[in-house]
Amino acid sequence: MAQASEDTAARSTTSLLFVVHQHRARRLHYDLRLELNGRLVCWAVPKGPSMDPGQRRLAVKVEDHALAIADFEGVVPEGDYGAGELLLWDRGTWRPLDDDPEEALAQGKLLFLVGGEKLRGRFVLVRTRYRGEGENWLLIKLKDRYATPGEDITLSRPESVVTQRTITDLQLWAEGLREVQEEVLRLAGAVAQPMPTALPPMWPGGRRDPFCDADWLFEVEQRGPRVLAFCDGSAVTLRDRRQRDVTRQVPELAFALAAMRLPKAVLDGVVSIDSARDPGAAAHRRLAETDQAAIERSRAKTPAVYHAFDLLHFGDHSLLGVALSERRRLLDKLLPDRGVVVFVDHVAMDGEVACEEARRSCVRSVAKRAASIYRPGERSEDWVLVEPTPSSEGARSGESSWSPEEAAELGERLRGERQRSLTVRVGGAAVKLTNLDKVFWPQADERPALLKRDLIAYYAEVSPWLLLHLQDRPLTLRRYVDGIGGESFYQRDWHYRVPDYVRLVPIFAPTAKRDFRAVVCDNAATLLWLVNAGDVEMHAWYARCSNDGRGWPEDFAGSEETVEASSLNYPDFLVFDLDPWTKIARAGGAKEAETMRLEALAACKIVAGLLRERLESWGLTCFVKTSGKTGLHLWAPIERRYRFDTTREVARRLAESLAVTYPDLVTTEWRIEKRSGRVLVDYMQNVRGKTLPSPYSVRATVEATVSMPVAWEDLQDVDSRQFALDNVPRLLEAHGDGWAGILDHRVSLERTLSALDMA
Ligand code: MN
Repeated sequence: MAQASEDTAARSTTSLLFVVHQHRARRLHYDLRLELNGRLVCWAVPKGPSMDPGQRRLAVKVEDHALAIADFEGVVPEGDYGAGELLLWDRGTWRPLDDDPEEALAQGKLLFLVGGEKLRGRFVLVRTRYRGEGENWLLIKLKDRYATPGEDITLSRPESVVTQRTITDLQLWAEGLREVQEEVLRLAGAVAQPMPTALPPMWPGGRRDPFCDADWLFEVEQRGPRVLAFCDGSAVTLRDRRQRDVTRQVPELAFALAAMRLPKAVLDGVVSIDSARDPGAAAHRRLAETDQAAIERSRAKTPAVYHAFDLLHFGDHSLLGVALSERRRLLDKLLPDRGVVVFVDHVAMDGEVACEEARRSCVRSVAKRAASIYRPGERSEDWVLVEPTPSSEGARSGESSWSPEEAAELGERLRGERQRSLTVRVGGAAVKLTNLDKVFWPQADERPALLKRDLIAYYAEVSPWLLLHLQDRPLTLRRYVDGIGGESFYQRDWHYRVPDYVRLVPIFAPTAKRDFRAVVCDNAATLLWLVNAGDVEMHAWYARCSNDGRGWPEDFAGSEETVEASSLNYPDFLVFDLDPWTKIARAGGAKEAETMRLEALAACKIVAGLLRERLESWGLTCFVKTSGKTGLHLWAPIERRYRFDTTREVARRLAESLAVTYPDLVTTEWRIEKRSGRVLVDYMQNVRGKTLPSPYSVRATVEATVSMPVAWEDLQDVDSRQFALDNVPRLLEAHGDGWAGILDHRVSLERTLSALDMA
């Protein structure tokens, strides 16, 4: 048996434990905890730690805690000290830079080195002279190679380092847990019984060709050893099919399950090492490993994942006699949406759509009778293996079967479904969609609230057109995990495991001096997966990963020189962001604000026309779209042989010459107070890695507007607000994509360069 605290002990033999909890008590704050002489010394940091040496964060000294809390993630019950959600926001080790840290604390200045997953490098805690109710200290990041000035790490990395949940996810999960606790009491077939300490698993009793039957559930077959998890709060034991204790072989799973503090639960599932080339074989090797150092190395490099598909016991009740569909419903509520313990979804065979999915399904699945009970150790006819038919397409190549009809059908289905979460087949891949009833846009005027299901339905419906604009381009995500009313952050680095239909590309970031992993959205499954992760806006790069046969290296990792020389340095477009100056914020009433908004948009249209005239006189073709806010975006496709430094210089000279010719209309001045009623022609977007919203990207505005391509002849009559999440799919279906084939209009910049004295 492994306790989470043993994991702690193993780490702290050489170094001291460092933990930051995000804590939603009466007020949201962060708790910094440093292990010292057998206890945790703690500070409450209201704004959270920062990696910016320019930021000094108030840290109020609070009472010491026992070491056990260092492994805890969950909800502290009402009535207990610190009641509320506690999320493991960062975790690792620390080392004092003073000889005597106790003395340093007493003196009021502690220098220390942190090795967390988010916080790294040197920090200092300094006690301030003022002593109010508590002891006030300041937490300051010291300058070193880990410092990231300007970044707010609490926004860019809001997730738990153990389960990858946000604190809102944790709150939703806790509600689910409470529901399960109540439901178990009145579940048909549940029997009051102590939790078993070992059980042999149930096995499929045969094989069948693909079939459709509403009484069966179809799970994707997971590759890897069968393992049952016996959880009792922080005590977790994992056993293989022969009931051998394998907890020590997969400490990362034991730790994640322990952190969930399930009040007695037995789970059935499969361990796999998803990041390995052969996930099943790698997992079998891991479970057979006896050398602890080898296990640790493997854990760090290729962490294991537990794919759970059944719940055999919960609380004081055995669920062996409960129907499978009910057991799985409860399990789905118990498991977090993200992390290393994941729920294996199923497709219920209800009606023609599902039958079609079964025919198309490309992987082996296990069909299970929905009403069946669990028979430990038996091979049962209630479970059968289903082999794919030879004609079915592979999961990755299944994209070819993604048609506008299927996209529309999925959109409709999502809007119609009542389930909170749902697994859908998208071009051959199974994509799990969760928290579908989360409000993403609060109710506004006559429009009802828009839920996450509406956002996903929108992206499903526009995917046949949108994907052509996203394919092969690294993406910058703009995530709103709790809807547009919640916090948001830009994200270009994906830190975690991704499903195998998602392409990740390592790209060197010169400022951070390391590679980040960018998501490239090549297929509809990736698109829906991204939206499910709260990515409201799509910002694709202007350059693509592939080199179009031009010989530039398609390798972007390791150094700035590599990226500079690569295909990512050759954009497909010159882009201009036209941003009108408005006094909207300062306007008196709603009516006045509306007048000003329309005036600003009108000015923007005039400038777009002037810019187009200039560019067309040099042979370029321009495309225009609404920004979805007050401005317009103008894109001119160019032959792919100019580097970003050339396109930026072209855009700069062009914008400045316009500002000289039309000084009352155009400015290139960034600062709002200097724009004074003019339209900013922002050329600074022509930089590698910078992005504007992609065509058909939703914007995080109150109106749920969409950045919409517009024909030049229609531009005069267009109001950005007329294009929104609820009407753009119909417009696209009726009129098609105005930007379709945009790359066919690429022209050489030679005439432009000579006109701007750059030749
Ligand atoms: Mn606290």
